[in-house]
Amino acid sequence: MVENDASEDSKKGMKVGGALGEMFRTAFQRPITKKYPFGAAQVAERFRGKLDIDPVKCTGCGVCEAVCPASVIQMVHTGTRKVGTREIETKRPTFDLYTCISCGQCVDDCRFEALRLTHEFELATVDKKSLVMDKALKVVN
Ligand code: SF4
Ligand code: SF4
Repeated sequence: MVENDASEDSKKGMKVGGALGEMFRTAFQRPITKKYPFGAAQVAERFRGKLDIDPVKCTGCGVCEAVCPASVIQMVHTGTRKVGTREIETKRPTFDLYTCISCGQCVDDCRFEALRLTHEFELATVDKKSLVMDKALKVVN
């Protein structure tokens, strides 16, 4: 019983010693608290923020629309183009980013690498139409 008490006291002493060591080690360091929103926020390398598209790379294949679990993407008719003797419909995606959950599924499945998730995350707005991304409609391939 006495031995156990001594062992407990020893453990407590080590904990206090460790805490004091940590206190002295950090006493003269600068605070690591981020000043956001008064300073720039730093996000992790793999942070998944606002979706973006490179309209030139997009071929209008429609895979992103098919895989999106949040129904963010709609393919819009943009015209027709001739392939051999056939006239085929061309389409490009639009994105209602206010419902995007940044899951990255469309990015992973776009084989033309037209999509990426940026580090942008300040998306709050009173005008949700400002979060409609339709820039792929303006490029005709
Ligand atoms: S963004 Fe990619 S997956 Fe979506 S339509 Fe364009 S090429 Fe296809
Ligand atoms: S990141 Fe996810 S939720 Fe957002 S558009 Fe792509 S598939 Fe849809």
